[in-house]
Amino acid sequence: MKKVAVLGSTGSIGTQTLDVIRNNEDLQLVALSAGSNIELLEKQIREFHPEICCVSSKSNADALRIAIADVTPSCKIVSGMEGLLEVAVVESSDILITAIVGMIGIKPTIAAIEAGKDIGLANKETLVTAGHIIMPLAREKGVSILPVDSEHSAIFQCLNGEKENVIHKILLTASGGPFRGMKKKDLEQVTLDMALKHPNWSMGKKITIDSSTMVNKGLEVIEAKWLFNVNPGQIEVLVQPQSIIHSMVEFEDGAVIAQLGSPDMRLPIQYALYYPKRVFLDGERLDFSKITELTFEKPDMDTFVGLKYAYDAIDIGGSMPTVLNAANELAVAKFLNKKIRFLEIYEIINFCMDCHTVIENPSVDQILETERWVYETIESRWIS
Ligand code: NAD
Ligand code: MG
Repeated sequence: MKKVAVLGSTGSIGTQTLDVIRNNEDLQLVALSAGSNIELLEKQIREFHPEICCVSSKSNADALRIAIADVTPSCKIVSGMEGLLEVAVVESSDILITAIVGMIGIKPTIAAIEAGKDIGLANKETLVTAGHIIMPLAREKGVSILPVDSEHSAIFQCLNGEKENVIHKILLTASGGPFRGMKKKDLEQVTLDMALKHPNWSMGKKITIDSSTMVNKGLEVIEAKWLFNVNPGQIEVLVQPQSIIHSMVEFEDGAVIAQLGSPDMRLPIQYALYYPKRVFLDGERLDFSKITELTFEKPDMDTFVGLKYAYDAIDIGGSMPTVLNAANELAVAKFLNKKIRFLEIYEIINFCMDCHTVIENPSVDQILETERWVYETIESRWIS
C-alpha cells in the first residue's frame, strides 16, 4: 500500500490525483490540503477518510470541522502555513503530490524532503524559484523528485534506462496556447475569456493564463534545467499544436526518443505514484490511423516574449527566476481580476526584472523576501 498526501486536492491536478487513487486499491490518501472549497473537501474527507486536512484560513477550518463533525474516524483539521507543513510531513505518507499553485509550495516541499518523503512535483513555481535548494537537498536525503508536469514526465520516461548516456538536447514541446500564430497587435485585443480557452488541456486558471502567454513554457524550461541537470541552451522549445508528443530527448548519437499519448494528466500523475511501474489506466488511447496531422513549429519568442524572459532569467540566475515567477504570479492574478490588460503581464515581468538587483544563490528566506520585493514594486511603482 502506498500512502499519499496531496497539497491542492480540490484543483485540477489534485482532483485527478484523487481519481487515480480512487481507481487503485493499493493507493491510500492519508492527508490533503486545499484553499477554501469546503464543500468539495467535505466530500473528499467522507470518501477517502484522510487523517489530516489543511485549509487556508482559521474560519475555513471552523466551517470544515462543523461539516465533518459526524465523520469517523475523525479527520484533524489544520490551517495556514503551519497546517500545510503538518500535511507535508505527516508520518504515515510515502509520497507528497504538490498540486498547490504558486510559491506557497516552497516551504512544504522542502519540509517533506527533509522528512524523507518522495515528491510528485506538479507545483513548478517551487522548482523555478528554489531548484538550487531542492535538488541538492533531495539528493542528500535520498528522496525522488518525480515530475508530474506532462512534458517533464515525458522526458523522465524517455530517460528510462539511459543513466550512462549523455543528453544532447531536450525537445520541450508546447501547444502554443490559444493565441498561437498571433502577433503583438493581435494580442493587444485579447480578453480574459479568450485567454482562458486552452485548445487541448483543461487546467487551473493560473496555468491556463500562463499557457496563453507561454510563460508556462518558460517556467518549464527552468523546471527542466533543475530536474534533468542540463544547461538552458540544451533545452529547445518546440511547438507541437496537437499535444500528442509530450516531449523528446535527443542523445549524443542523434537518436531521438519521444513519449506520446492522449492529453490526460492522470498518466503522468499515475506514473509518478507508481514509478518505475506502469499500471492500467482507462481513458482515451492514441489511434494513429486517426491522427491526420502531427506538426511542429518554432516558438515565436518576439511575440510571446514571456518565454524569452524565462531564458534571460535562468541565464542571469540567482534570484532572477524568482522575480520572473513572482511578477508573473501577481500579474496573472491581476489579469484574472480584470485589473490589467493581457500584454501588461509581460510589461510587469520586464519592469520587475529590469529594476532587480540579483542575489546570488538565495536562501529560502531571501527567495520569499524577493517575492515580497516584487509585490511591493508592482503595487507601488507600476502604473497601469
Ligand atoms: P488549480 O488552481 O486547479 O488548483 C490549485 C489547488 O491549490 C487548489 O486545491 C487550491 O485550493 C489550492 N491552493 C491554491 N492557493 C492556495 C493557498 N494559498 N493555500 C492553500 N491552498 C491553495 O491549479 P492546477 O491547475 O491544479 O495546478 C496546480 C499546480 O500544478 C500548478 O503549479 C501548475 O503549474 C501545475 N500543473 C498543472 C497542470 C494541469 O493540468 N492543471 C499541468 C502541469 C502542471
Ligand atoms: Mg506542462
